[in-house]
Amino acid sequence: MLVESLLGFVVLVGILGLCFGSFLNVVIHRLPLIMEREWQAQCAELNGQAAADAEPLTLARPRSRCPRCGHPITILENIPLISYLFVLKGKCSGCGEPISPRYPLVELLTGLFSAYAAWRFGPTLQLAGALLLIWALIALAAIDFDTQLLPDAITLPLLWAGLAFNLNAAFAPLPVAVIGAMAGYLALWSVFWLFKLATGKEGMGYGDFKLLAALGAWLGWTMLPVIILLSSLVGAAVGITLIVAARRGRNVPIPFGPYLAAAGLIALFWGKDLTERYLGLIA
Ligand SMILES: [Zn+2]
Repeated sequence: MLVESLLGFVVLVGILGLCFGSFLNVVIHRLPLIMEREWQAQCAELNGQAAADAEPLTLARPRSRCPRCGHPITILENIPLISYLFVLKGKCSGCGEPISPRYPLVELLTGLFSAYAAWRFGPTLQLAGALLLIWALIALAAIDFDTQLLPDAITLPLLWAGLAFNLNAAFAPLPVAVIGAMAGYLALWSVFWLFKLATGKEGMGYGDFKLLAALGAWLGWTMLPVIILLSSLVGAAVGITLIVAARRGRNVPIPFGPYLAAAGLIALFWGKDLTERYLGLIA
């Protein structure tokens, strides 16, 4: 492809990423609330009580609004990045409450990674897969950071989608991907049980196993060493900093999902280099 048209394509995919980042903000905010409501409804049913009546909540409805004053977000206030910077200037137009910079940050991050994927993969099937993986990982990282949950509603479809893309070896040959999914799950599952047998504590959640299984399904088992190494190193560094700086107790759970997701993104783009150069493995 010509350089000029590739550049145009990259910008276009970047804008698509910005818009999808705006949708990811809704997913990150609402999916845990929707899950919580489902659990409450199930508990009520189990106890033979009537489910609590509440306004129905889905990803599409009701429309986004200010959590403080209920001011509905207008179309003009919903343009990714632009609205936050120039229309709202970081505040709700109804009540003046500051809006978390997390929203534009998620949009920017999604846009930048999407554009970079377009640059790396061009208009290919690989790009479609890479975008799906990037978007899912950003949503999972933020939800786990907020709630210590990695929803099955994202991790499980992500795993199967990875295997589907690798039917044509988009990122790894199918056998390498299937072994990746199994080894990813079992690696953390065995660490979990060894840790639990040794200390009686639970060091991580089942969501972490499923996320690493999904990364194995997308990138193949050959990427698992670099993903585990990166996520453990960064996780340990951040964890120790938090304990020292904030004097947080060592028993406060620190979610592992964001580090796994970040390591997965790094492995998607630079995993082959890292694996060959630093681990001496042939990927
Ligand atoms: Zn408001």
